[in-house]
Amino acid sequence: MGGNWKDQFADAPDVLKRTPEDRSVVWAGAVPIGGDAFVTMAGPCSVETEHQLMETAVRVAAAGARVLRGGAFKPRTSPYAFQGLGLEGLKLLARAGEATGLAVVTEVMSAADAPMVAEYADILQIGSRSMENYALLEAAAKTGRPILLKRGMVATVADLLRSAQCIVSHGNPNVILCERGIRTFETATRNTFDIGAIVVLKEICRLPVIADPSHAAGRRSLVPVLARSAVAAGADGLIVEVHPDPDHAWSDGEQSLTFTEFGTMMADLAPWCELRSCCEYALETVA
Ligand code: PEP
Ligand code: MN
Repeated sequence: MGGNWKDQFADAPDVLKRTPEDRSVVWAGAVPIGGDAFVTMAGPCSVETEHQLMETAVRVAAAGARVLRGGAFKPRTSPYAFQGLGLEGLKLLARAGEATGLAVVTEVMSAADAPMVAEYADILQIGSRSMENYALLEAAAKTGRPILLKRGMVATVADLLRSAQCIVSHGNPNVILCERGIRTFETATRNTFDIGAIVVLKEICRLPVIADPSHAAGRRSLVPVLARSAVAAGADGLIVEVHPDPDHAWSDGEQSLTFTEFGTMMADLAPWCELRSCCEYALETVA
């Protein structure tokens, strides 16, 4: 790669670092993302019932999560699969967030829904399948809520940054990037976790970067080690699927952790998170 390697990111001038130390901290309610503290977002793939969500929120908060995830609008591989509870799901999320002190992140799938989702959620998630839906990005940006932008499954790092730039250009600088695995020829994992993308993003871009080991892995046994590798690569946080009874989850049960597995993963990650600031320091001095 030549000296003009960074030219490929030229469409995203406002999200690139201006100095090696440059980094944005995005506030989700009272939770800073991209600062010194590593932040874990956790919860079920889909909001199913009040009991399922509340129980999960209480347990992930006790294990150290700061943000509750849960889909009320679900982009499924099949249009005939469960599509989410919609507004009822948003209300359950807001209630669970209030009860536990967790901030709430949930996906918005259509531009028309953006103001409604923003009433109930602290962070609007743009899913992989929507990363290049610029009308949706604009509507989400204009709500003023922080945006969690997931990398499209066939999107390059430059494509991801172009979508981030689109949100920033619509007046919303509060973007969090998420590596969730990309499509390759490999079938042993659901997607191929692109750890190199995390390192590149942390080197060139000032936005916080989180990792989604659940959708990358597709199998719960792989999730804790992928999570640890994301911490080691310098990620600012994680988004992880957790369910009270994964075998009976309405979506993505195979990759969802039980409460016990999530607790163990969080405890095991703690020493790695401690080392994270040293890792960032090394990156910045090399730049
Ligand atoms: C999800 O977070 O449940 C989800 C559908 O993620 P992705 O858009 O990364 O597939
Ligand atoms: Mn899912």
